[in-house]
Amino acid sequence: MSTFSVESEEMTLFEKLLEKELIPVACKVDEEGYYPETVLRSLGEMGAFRVSGLSPHVALSKRMKLIELSSRYCVSTSFLIWCHTTAISFIHNSNAEYLKTSLLPLLETGQVLAGTGLSNPMKYYAGMEPLRMKATMNSDGFIINGITPFVSNVGPGHWFGIIAQINEDQRIMAMVDCNIKGLRMTDHKDFSGLNGTRSYTCRFDEVFIPNELVISVRADEFIPMIRSEFVLSQSGMGLGLVQTSVDSMSKAMNKQNETNKYIGISPDELAKELNELRQQAVLLCEKGASGEEAFIPAVQLRLRSAELALRATQTAFLYHGAAGYYRKSDCMRRLREALFVAVVTPAVKHLKRILRESTPRA
Ligand SMILES: Cc1cc2nc3c(=O)[nH]c(=O)nc-3n(C[C@H](O)[C@H](O)[C@H](O)COP(=O)(O)OP(=O)(O)OC[C@H]3O[C@@H](n4cnc5c(N)ncnc54)[C@H](O)[C@@H]3O)c2cc1C
Repeated sequence: MSTFSVESEEMTLFEKLLEKELIPVACKVDEEGYYPETVLRSLGEMGAFRVSGLSPHVALSKRMKLIELSSRYCVSTSFLIWCHTTAISFIHNSNAEYLKTSLLPLLETGQVLAGTGLSNPMKYYAGMEPLRMKATMNSDGFIINGITPFVSNVGPGHWFGIIAQINEDQRIMAMVDCNIKGLRMTDHKDFSGLNGTRSYTCRFDEVFIPNELVISVRADEFIPMIRSEFVLSQSGMGLGLVQTSVDSMSKAMNKQNETNKYIGISPDELAKELNELRQQAVLLCEKGASGEEAFIPAVQLRLRSAELALRATQTAFLYHGAAGYYRKSDCMRRLREALFVAVVTPAVKHLKRILRESTPRA
């Protein structure tokens, strides 16, 4: 079986940490909206977010593996890891020297945590909606106004990435400190799941962003450099969910004199599809996801992993029957998590739109 090219010893340590620190709090994260901050900080201390000094494909493989591993236990935490490592990728791929020397080391060690407010910009670049954040240039930086409705892994002391429009022809990308003057944040706690992800609506009222916090003054040119990785790394959430669903189906296989086999979808069948997707993920990570040519394969994998996660979590639920119908059952949590993977930007509809528009029409 293909594996990601990451030091396996290092990955074993991360896995042990997740088993020790994440498994005991996974239910609390889902049921009580507990934010697993200590898990994120411990991962950072251990080097799980470090990309400096690694080759791009090793850094990407490491990130994918970490997201996949954590999503087997808790997609909320896995998504937070995705948010944080995505923010790291913004700075790491930029020429923003101040951010690289001041903020990046703190993010890599988990001393500062970060999110990404790129849902609306990603939809903007796919032609789905207008950009909701506006920027006005002055000599020292930019004044930002607007709203970004859901940003996760934020809060006091955290940072996140934004894109704002100067005019029809130019958009900027920057990092924002959540403590900054003029930023108002209201939290969301009424989702069907993922309430432990510290997701806020962020309103910008005359927020000043100095030049040194700008990732790119040409966001349109910068986005193609990071969006393949943005999309590809999300696939880890779907892959981990499928693995854990396959495991849970295997355990329930013999229930009621093997009646589950009449459902018509076996754990082996899903495991085979999972391995195929994993092999593709390994290949794409090895090729690297920095360029535009990597985008469509990344979108295809992201879509297939989300669809397989929906099918696998639903089938696992059918295998467990009424036991899975309890509000607090693992099957029910994974169903809600798979629905999240299917709607978080880029959602299934968004991915399908990209694929349709990239196909030449007859
Ligand atoms: C638990 C959770 C965590 C999320 N975390 C993040 C994150 O970290 N980063 C991120 O970028 N996105 C995040 N999102 C947003 C997500 O990626 C989708 O954009 C979101 O689910 C809406 O997408 P939709 O296509 O279903 O749009 P719809 O819900 O149909 O909404 C259409 C559009 O209306 C606008 N809109 C919706 N609500 C408001 C509002 N209150 N004020 C102004 N405009 C609004 C948005 O631009 C949205 O795209 C999160 C969503 C959830 C459920």
